[in-house]
Amino acid sequence: MNRDIFEEFVLRKGYKMGENWAYGMMAEYPVAICSDDHSITVIFRIDPMDARTVKQNLKRALRGIAMVVFNKGTISITMKGENWQIAEKFNAVSKGVPEIFHMHDVHPTTQCSYCKGEGCDVYALLDIGYEAVHTACIEKALDKAKDYAERNKRSGSHLTGTIGALLVIVVAFLVSGIPTWLNNQRLSGAMSLIFAFLPLGIFYTYKLFNGKLDWYATALTGVLSLGAGFFVNTGLLYWQLVKIEGRLVPIADVWALLTRSNMWGSFMSSMIYSLIFTIFALFIARNAIRATGETGVQTIERVQDTLIPIPSQEDLEKMEQDRKAAEERRLKEKQAEAERKLQEEALAEQEAIREWERTHPAETYEELEEDAPQSSDGGEEDLPQPQEETQEQETPNQD
Ligand SMILES: [Zn+2]
Repeated sequence: MNRDIFEEFVLRKGYKMGENWAYGMMAEYPVAICSDDHSITVIFRIDPMDARTVKQNLKRALRGIAMVVFNKGTISITMKGENWQIAEKFNAVSKGVPEIFHMHDVHPTTQCSYCKGEGCDVYALLDIGYEAVHTACIEKALDKAKDYAERNKRSGSHLTGTIGALLVIVVAFLVSGIPTWLNNQRLSGAMSLIFAFLPLGIFYTYKLFNGKLDWYATALTGVLSLGAGFFVNTGLLYWQLVKIEGRLVPIADVWALLTRSNMWGSFMSSMIYSLIFTIFALFIARNAIRATGETGVQTIERVQDTLIPIPSQEDLEKMEQDRKAAEERRLKEKQAEAERKLQEEALAEQEAIREWERTHPAETYEELEEDAPQSSDGGEEDLPQPQEETQEQETPNQD
């Protein structure tokens, strides 16, 4: 389902739409729902102790409908297919999963995601799902984030942050040097992986060193990440040269070495590898490295927009009663409907017999036993032909 269809779909089902996730209550279970082009995933957060008892049955019940993944107290249920298939499967899950949960006495999580305490009063949309939290805990987190943003604006420093960021490059260099150190060049390919962690590493260390979070932090992270490949690879070459010579040499000798020997190829391929990793990592981390103090505040404010009160025990009991009452009502309606149908059929049969008697006063009814017509269109014909019964009531065929 694409974003628009997904949004319309979940809103129609009574869920709310957050930034990327939909959220709300499936019976009394809080759920977060996301989608991509060919699937919808519903995430339940339940008591981890209850997860064990329901695991096998849930998987069995949803076989062929959805993929179920358990991870401690998180249950992800993924439905795939065309939009209409997903919609049908979603209906089956909405009806079936709470029923299975009821059967196994499964409860939603009650532990606060912030303080791990009990007695939560609201559900909130957090990273891991639609979660129980204390309103007070969110407010506390918001105050803290505001404090941090304020302090960072006032006393954050470009200088200390930059020192922290440069330290990360030094560490990256030393770690990349492990193969040189061990005389094991086979490891050097694996060391390129380090560049995948550089952007976030640089940004968070900058932050840790009380770096001021503004455009400078983002720019510095980008420039240092992209430059790191060059510094680290040149540094490693210099390191090897020193090892070979057994003494410190002028750094310019690195370039002389490169031109003299056949090392250009491997040097350039290391550079390209590290650059590819870095660009990929920058792309992945693009939102994180743009974060400022305000971003933290906004994140929590967005969480505040998703709160709904946790139903109390009384509410739950009432919901349960309503559910049962609705079930009974449905059952009664079904029975009444069935009875009404039977009566109608009986009436139609009597009518048909009367009609037959009227038009065939002297004959017996034996022929009627099998194919009694359900209705008659006024008896303009003397001999109704035997007819096939169809589901809809139709006027009898007249050949
Ligand atoms: Zn709490």
